[in-house]
Amino acid sequence: MSLDPALRAHALAAKGFMPEDEGDALYDAAVAAGRAVPGLPFLEVGSYCGRSTVWLGGAAREAGTVLFAVDHHRGSEENQAGWEHHDTTVVDPRIGKMDTLPFFRATIHDAGLEDVVFAVVGLSPRVAANLRTPLAFLFIDGGHGEEPARLDYEGWTPLVAVGGTLAIHDVFPDPADGGRPPYEQIFVPALESGRFRLVSATGSLRVLQRVD
Ligand code: SAH
Ligand code: MG
Repeated sequence: MSLDPALRAHALAAKGFMPEDEGDALYDAAVAAGRAVPGLPFLEVGSYCGRSTVWLGGAAREAGTVLFAVDHHRGSEENQAGWEHHDTTVVDPRIGKMDTLPFFRATIHDAGLEDVVFAVVGLSPRVAANLRTPLAFLFIDGGHGEEPARLDYEGWTPLVAVGGTLAIHDVFPDPADGGRPPYEQIFVPALESGRFRLVSATGSLRVLQRVD
């Protein structure tokens, strides 16, 4: 089972940073997690304009669950003006700050996923500190600086249910391939904690299962 073709077209039409093969791997991992740990929601940290969210929302629907999509929608450091991943069309001219929420809402609306995907707009560590629900599937693709990555690891990974899945994006073991915080602050600590084991790797996506 892979992502419905109509949903795939919406995912690929959305602005964002999720390559198709990694989106497909994300989808497969999430559907499997939803079956392994039934009845628990999925959660994504870092939705941007909803590109990865469509793969995960499709997986949530397939697994009979829902997806919380957490993002302050003001962009990561690396999305701001002057940085490599900046897109001037996502700046709100009224306040001169990024606002990806309208793009996210359009993507989720057009994909027909509003009954499955719930946006949570806020600072990731603050949201994490105030949510208690165990998760079948957690996808971390938020801020890639050292501090945001560390806070996402600390705040969110305890919520993954035993048997559930942690997926991490932009994991680059070789610094020549990209920034290291997702590797150093999330991937390595997760494995070293003994709570997670590595299940698969696709591009910069790493899928881990919670074992303890
Ligand atoms: N998953 C997306 C890309 C996410 S880009 C895709 O597939 O295209 C990273 C996102 O993380 C940005 O939208 C940014 O606003 C969000 N983000 C970064 N730091 C955050 C924080 N501390 N709290 C909430 N969201 C954050
Ligand atoms: Mg990413």
